[in-house]
Amino acid sequence: MTDPVLTMIPGPTPVHPDILRSLSLPTTSHVAPGFVTTYRRCLERLRAVVRGKRGLPFVVAGSGTGAMEMALINTLSPGERLLVVSQGYFGDRWAQIAETFGISCESIRAEWGRTVPPSELEARLAGGEYAAVATTHVDTSTGAAAPLSQYAGLLAGRRELFLVDGVCATAGMDERFDEWGVDVLVTGAQKALGAPPGVAILMVSARALDRRRALAGVPGYTADLLRWLPIMENPAGYFSTPPVNEIVALDTAFGLILDEGLDERFARHRRLARSLREGMAALGLRPFTEAASLADTLSVLRYPAGVEDGPFRQEMALRKVIVAAALGPLAGQAFRVGHMGNIGVGEMARTLAAAEASLIALGRDVVPGTALAAAARGR
Ligand SMILES: *Cc1c(COP(=O)(O)O)cnc(C)c1O
Repeated sequence: MTDPVLTMIPGPTPVHPDILRSLSLPTTSHVAPGFVTTYRRCLERLRAVVRGKRGLPFVVAGSGTGAMEMALINTLSPGERLLVVSQGYFGDRWAQIAETFGISCESIRAEWGRTVPPSELEARLAGGEYAAVATTHVDTSTGAAAPLSQYAGLLAGRRELFLVDGVCATAGMDERFDEWGVDVLVTGAQKALGAPPGVAILMVSARALDRRRALAGVPGYTADLLRWLPIMENPAGYFSTPPVNEIVALDTAFGLILDEGLDERFARHRRLARSLREGMAALGLRPFTEAASLADTLSVLRYPAGVEDGPFRQEMALRKVIVAAALGPLAGQAFRVGHMGNIGVGEMARTLAAAEASLIALGRDVVPGTALAAAARGR
């Protein structure tokens, strides 16, 4: 048998066979009783995955970015002030979307590979009031995980809505919608949830929906949460056809997550991250990210002098392991490996073996077996 291509990028991530099978079930009516039951269960399971009993779940056609856009335009009107706590490329995306809609935006930007210290957010909040604060749980460009619970502590009791981009974290790292007082958590199917792309996922607090109701309108028709709300409360209704097969697949993905158990799933992500990094470090491929902020869902690894990005990733691809280029100022200096969703030791070992063989093919002096031996120690 030949190995299938292993997609170890920070999304889309490998899709479990059970999820793929459910994606291939016959497409039904969007109001067929069976689908309505699945849609309703999918929304309930989303609540469980983000520990959000008080949140209102929304799952509609779209992407992570689409969910970010919905989050902003449903809670802020032009001219209102948004504070973005940015740790990289995707943090900056919050600001770009805000600018597109005339929302007045200020950013606190961390140096790439680091996170914004809570004290900086505290100082900014002491200087004035904003309508909302938006941040990113794991910035996929830098591999840094933000201290979300500390940001949440600073926002508790304040007027600012707390908007969180969980796209590269949800179901791979702990998120506590209720406990942290999150107002809108946006996420995507194709990252740590391990489902195929195609849906925008939001959890919305009652307070955030009240802000939507207070707006004169929303610069979007299908992006208006109030048009979707009746469907999310009762999926037997119709507003605009939902992506039936993708929602069935997402429900299966949530089922796998809850069967595994959230705490066990987060621990698995931590173990795999640690041993993959041990193995890569033994090859001279070390994290770009500061040690205190390493995410469990992906790694951004620097090339040692003399290893070039294009040839390295090409050698990896020849071994049927796909890793991603680095973004922005890191392009060419590092590569990104996703290790989230429904992957295990097998996928991690294949990735390490491919990295080792690729370096040897490029003429590096590496003793065969180095990476897996180090990874085994890291576990
Ligand atoms: C991938 C990603 C996004 C964008 O999601 P799309 O589905 O590609 O639009 C946003 N934020 C983070 C943190 C991501 O990793």
